[in-house]
Amino acid sequence: MCDNHTILIEEGVYVRFWVQLPHRSGERLSLLFHTLDDAFVFIAKHRDPTSEYPPLIREYGTYLRRGELVAFPTETVYGLGADATNEEAVRSIFTAKERPLFDPLIVHVAEVAQLAEVVEVLNERTVKLIEHFWPGPLTLVVKKHPSIPAIVTSGGDTVAIRMPDNPLALSLIKESGRPIAAPSANRFGYTSPTTASHVEEQLGSKIAAILDGGACSVGIESTVLSLVSDPPTILRPGKIGPQELFPVIGEVVYASAVKKTVLESPGLLKNHYAPTTPLYLVDDVSLYKDDPSVGVLLFERSRVSFKGPVQYISEREDPGEAASRLYWAMRQLDTLHLRMMVCSLLKEEGIGVAINNRLRKASRKR
Ligand code: AMP
Ligand code: MG
Repeated sequence: MCDNHTILIEEGVYVRFWVQLPHRSGERLSLLFHTLDDAFVFIAKHRDPTSEYPPLIREYGTYLRRGELVAFPTETVYGLGADATNEEAVRSIFTAKERPLFDPLIVHVAEVAQLAEVVEVLNERTVKLIEHFWPGPLTLVVKKHPSIPAIVTSGGDTVAIRMPDNPLALSLIKESGRPIAAPSANRFGYTSPTTASHVEEQLGSKIAAILDGGACSVGIESTVLSLVSDPPTILRPGKIGPQELFPVIGEVVYASAVKKTVLESPGLLKNHYAPTTPLYLVDDVSLYKDDPSVGVLLFERSRVSFKGPVQYISEREDPGEAASRLYWAMRQLDTLHLRMMVCSLLKEEGIGVAINNRLRKASRKR
């Protein structure tokens, strides 16, 4: 290891580097990996990220300005970015992902000032939320500015906006000088990618570049909060829920609690985020212990000995850890070509609401 790298092995496996990024002097960038193997593969490939990242970010910023697609890490999942003001560039996101045009994209910014060409007006409530939660895993749906092409918003007059809490993402967006439209960097309908190799597997041949920033720390997609409805409505649950939002803006409701026809978010289908192997949600996974063709996803250490493969999403029923490892664990089992996989739900509270939401969608593929 050279001087500016330290490896810290914590409860999970973390690798931390000091990395000097363009525009963000002296910031400590921490890279997370799910396994030691992943960490060593990264280090073998990028012997000196401190000096590698700045030129990579400059190069990839140029690709974005030219209308090309670049995948990049955020704290939630990897995004597939394009210049949100360039209609052709945005169209190529839909083509690469095979995503239907009715599913609108989230526009990512690195600075609030960039919203001037994205959002019609920033009202007081929006500003409050931005001050409290950005950069962070909260997407806000607001009235759109005319300079955002219709393809970004699926023809609607609202736009979803977010500032990701990841120094690499912020550096890249800033370098590009553009607001960046970015859905999750996976084929439409499949689980979102939480490592660069997940992106490589599904989209590697179709895009200009992938910025590798290790594993995503939050691990599930952002909360989507609509501010064009009253009270504000959570269209997609995520790490930030009603408990965190209430002290800042008062009452918020879940979309499922209000009349569907008006508030349903385009693109939020019942089946989504799904692995190829059928996933079944069951009360007691131990009923499947004698079947070697069944993969088991667990949220805590189990004494049961399973004949089929087991993947721990968390070892101690820690909801934050579970969110960060959920898609990774599903993909690990998905590579084994099993007959099915089984999992039970978490307690319906905090980020558990969002994890259960994704598990239900993943299990509805067929
Ligand atoms: P993804 O970036 O793949 O996680 O998906 C973004 C999701 O955000 C979409 O599937 C929509 O459900 C939601 N979204 C984006 N833009 C809007 C909008 N203008 N109104 C409501 N929901 C939106
Ligand atoms: Mg997605």
